[in-house]
Amino acid sequence: MIPTPHDLDPCPHGCGELVLWTITEHGRRMAVDAEPHELGNQAVFRTGPGGWRSRSLDGADAPRLAPWEHRYKPHVATCTAPRPAQPAIPGLGGGRPRPRRRAPARRPIWKAR
Ligand SMILES: [Zn+2]
Repeated sequence: MIPTPHDLDPCPHGCGELVLWTITEHGRRMAVDAEPHELGNQAVFRTGPGGWRSRSLDGADAPRLAPWEHRYKPHVATCTAPRPAQPAIPGLGGGRPRPRRRAPARRPIWKAR
């Protein structure tokens, strides 16, 4: 089951993306990305109108993805909004991208004399 735009809310951190709010197996709210992702570690399924559940696929004893579930990434793994330091989530390529160094400006050849 894929969420419709009606199921989505803007990211609470303000990155501008839409997120899908789910309830985890521990009863907590967790935002996942709006689109399924094959590398996601959350199995998400719809329980009824506006109701979405998620469960972690991490861990050796986690049941495999069921036919009615889709893989999603937790939105914290992809959110680009600035916020307090967040520990990287293993296996999701988490963490912030490193700031790129700018190459020093080259002098145009015609000025090189
Ligand atoms: Zn976000």
